[in-house]
Amino acid sequence: MSHPVLLDTLAHAFNYNEFDNYVMHTYGRFPIAIEKGQGCRLWDTEGREYLDFVAGIATSTLGHAHPALIETVTQQIQKLHHVSNLYYIPEQGALAKWLVDHSCADSVFFCNSGAEANEAAIKLVRKYAHTMLDCCKQPVILTAKASFHGRTLATITATGQPKYQKDFSPLVPGFVYVPYNDIKILEDTITDLNQENSRVVAVMLEPLQGEGGVRPGDLEYFLKLRKICDEKNILLVFDEVQIGVGRSGKLWGYEHLGVEPDILTSAKGLAGGIPIGAMMCKRFCDVLGPGTHASTFGGNPFVTAVALTVLKTIKKENILQNVQARGEQLRTSLRTITQKYPNLFTEVRGWGLINGIELKQEIKLTSLDIIKMAMENGLLLAPAGPKVLRFVPPLIVSEIEVEKAIEILELVLKKIS
Ligand SMILES: *Cc1c(COP(=O)(O)O)cnc(C)c1O
Repeated sequence: MSHPVLLDTLAHAFNYNEFDNYVMHTYGRFPIAIEKGQGCRLWDTEGREYLDFVAGIATSTLGHAHPALIETVTQQIQKLHHVSNLYYIPEQGALAKWLVDHSCADSVFFCNSGAEANEAAIKLVRKYAHTMLDCCKQPVILTAKASFHGRTLATITATGQPKYQKDFSPLVPGFVYVPYNDIKILEDTITDLNQENSRVVAVMLEPLQGEGGVRPGDLEYFLKLRKICDEKNILLVFDEVQIGVGRSGKLWGYEHLGVEPDILTSAKGLAGGIPIGAMMCKRFCDVLGPGTHASTFGGNPFVTAVALTVLKTIKKENILQNVQARGEQLRTSLRTITQKYPNLFTEVRGWGLINGIELKQEIKLTSLDIIKMAMENGLLLAPAGPKVLRFVPPLIVSEIEVEKAIEILELVLKKIS
């Protein structure tokens, strides 16, 4: 519950300058302060209402103040919230079992964010290379250009975008970038790198590139990639931090591609907005023994109880069906918009409830320009790079709310053109 005095202060005047005096300026923020939410709606400190098509960046799976979330949070905080992994944690075991029962993985490591889940995957890959494969002085992990894997040193290195790496050298060795969805270059790169002292030990990809502009993986590419990995003893790692947990209309993004990864990571939507990360793998590569990796908060009773509630609610309330239907509705409407404004947009891309509409490169307008105007008209959207508007509402979004979002977007576009 919010402290009444604090809420009261917020309700009348939010002091942006004071905030900026104390909080590091690592974010470019929009000039509003959000105070409360309900379902897919949010209200700022001035009482203005917004339709939330950001969902805390593809995170608030069940929207805001969902009754199931409130119930679990309330019950678990009263019972027990944190004890450390010195002991067995029943809620953690129950969540791991659910994830294993509903994925291709056989075991789970819990942490607190997407970057950490990917760090764990990178460590697992390295340990597998050093202990299970010979000839491996220099294990190399291939990742994609325009990918995004997080903000720690290893994960900005894995991220194939120079803008995230600038001024942070020296980066972590052992990463090489290839274009996404290009099998020929991937094959050639593996051949080039597999030398006496170096070897490609893993390929790490998003089934759909989120931050890189909402680009779905190509089926044929991923089928061939899986085959190459099998033949050459290369681990296939899927970063499902954004696409996983139902966002794509299926529980996992890899279900769209007809292949299974050996290792997959999850975070954003997994506990519906409570911080969690998970790295899952198949039995044969489960090599991180006691003392090799750890997290103080990882998989504590509170967060794992909440995540289990999120997953059970997705199943019980048939939320994947809603994701598919609302996704279709949204893409159909966005395609109509691209036809109406052929001078502004190129195409619509996405799966389920992660969708992007791309602005033409040659126009001056950026995604942020449109997002600012949408916000002023009561719709929150996120960018995916300078030219793509990203639509990632809570998975419970209704037909009427999708219609409303489209109405607001059309209003903004009318003003622009
Ligand atoms: C957001 C994101 C991450 C990083 O997650 P954090 O929780 O911010 O560390 C990693 N990979 C992908 C695909 C993401 O979308």
